[in-house]
Amino acid sequence: MYDLFVIGAGSGGVRAARLAASQGFSVGIAESSRVGGTCVVRGCVPKKLMVYAAEFSQYFNDSKGYGWDIKDVHFDWHKMVEARNNEVDRLEAAYKKNLKNSGVTIYESFAKFKRLNEVELDNNKVIKAKNILIATGGKPKKPEFQGVQLTKSSDDIFMMKNLPEKIAIYGAGYIACEFASIFKGLGSDVTLIYRGEDLLRGFDNDISSLVRQGLEEKGINVLLNTIIEGVRECSDGLSVALSDKRQLFANEVVCATGRKPNIENLGLEKLGVNLEKDAVLVDDYQRTNISNVYAIGDVTDRLNLTPVAIRDGIAFVDTVFNNKPTVPDHHLVPKAVFTKPEVGTVGLSEIEAEKKGTVFTVYKTEFKPMKNQLSGNLQKTLMKMIVEKESDKILGVHIVGDGAAEMIQIVAVAVKMGATKSDFDATCAVHPTAAEELVTLN
Ligand code: NDP
Repeated sequence: MYDLFVIGAGSGGVRAARLAASQGFSVGIAESSRVGGTCVVRGCVPKKLMVYAAEFSQYFNDSKGYGWDIKDVHFDWHKMVEARNNEVDRLEAAYKKNLKNSGVTIYESFAKFKRLNEVELDNNKVIKAKNILIATGGKPKKPEFQGVQLTKSSDDIFMMKNLPEKIAIYGAGYIACEFASIFKGLGSDVTLIYRGEDLLRGFDNDISSLVRQGLEEKGINVLLNTIIEGVRECSDGLSVALSDKRQLFANEVVCATGRKPNIENLGLEKLGVNLEKDAVLVDDYQRTNISNVYAIGDVTDRLNLTPVAIRDGIAFVDTVFNNKPTVPDHHLVPKAVFTKPEVGTVGLSEIEAEKKGTVFTVYKTEFKPMKNQLSGNLQKTLMKMIVEKESDKILGVHIVGDGAAEMIQIVAVAVKMGATKSDFDATCAVHPTAAEELVTLN
């Protein structure tokens, strides 16, 4: 009998398995797809590699203002895909090696609950474990409309054989906005279709509007307050019927309309595991209603980000194996959206601060970064800080522009430590940078 059996070898599951095993506990892990999960195989990593690939087109354009004359620029989709897939293979192999080196036994199989303390694999083998961790992550969900089966999900993007000449992307969350930027950068004609008023709902309104402006300036066709009513095949591609009665032609249509917890066929009902809106319901210590069954990461649908799942895994091991009950800290988690322009954010948006009834001051600057003066690139940078009036404490920082993700990681350390606006003011600027604006806001 294992001390721990983990279902799902994504970021959270792998971290929990390795940590427990490296402390001498016997651990098994099952994965029905590829080790590494969404982040490594069909999410953050291959997506970021595509972000890098797409960035070059802007560099080539910007370089002209600096005296470069680059001719015959050509992008080879197949070369990029091959290189990207090789990197994913390398990482998957490293994940497997690290698991094995920590003493974890890997089962390349689907695993489902058979009864308490038992899971069953594809080959009907039954494995017993004292503790079972559900770390099965999430999967894309699509809306319902006629012809939806003709559309692709974000997972399918990584299997596309060719760069689509025209692509329509439905939704305006992280995935939709990031892939709109990526495909535009790689040379596709991109239409982003969204049912709401502005992109990236839930982010600070200034972020949403500057990202939308940035995407539009780069030539992305953004259709707001628009619904896809149906998709049908036509010669050479797909015809998309929109709620404003227009028809749009695209070679590919991608639904990036959210993700849902991956709970299908796990046998959770049979075991009596409580769910809430299809997410595994856990208490503060990530325990389900069944005493030796825990869940972490996206399958719990709390804060669906890789670093959060990893920290959930660490908290789980501390709680169950280190006699140190730990509630994972989901407060002040910094976030990035790898659009062009890029987004980095931590803490409260202006609207959230208002809703809380906090009395606050907004410090904001929007400027054309030095790099764009010569290049003619119209992209502006935004830096915005929400500061509690009484305490001077920084409640939120929002950045749009080059390097936003890298900047927010460091800013988040200060915000997490309880930094005040005066602390930022007291810090000398690094000149000439865009980031220096963060310490000279007034
Ligand atoms: P999001 O929840 O971010 O966005 C979903 C989008 O689809 C929203 O614009 C939403 O509209 C729209 N939508 C949802 N349902 C429908 C529907 N029935 N019809 C039409 N539109 C619909 O999900 P994503 O799929 O973009 O990403 C999933 C999660 O993955 C994110 O929440 C994030 O946690 C994680 N992620 C993180 C990344 C990062 O850290 N950079 C990158 C990619 C993903 P509305 O706003 O109106 O609800």
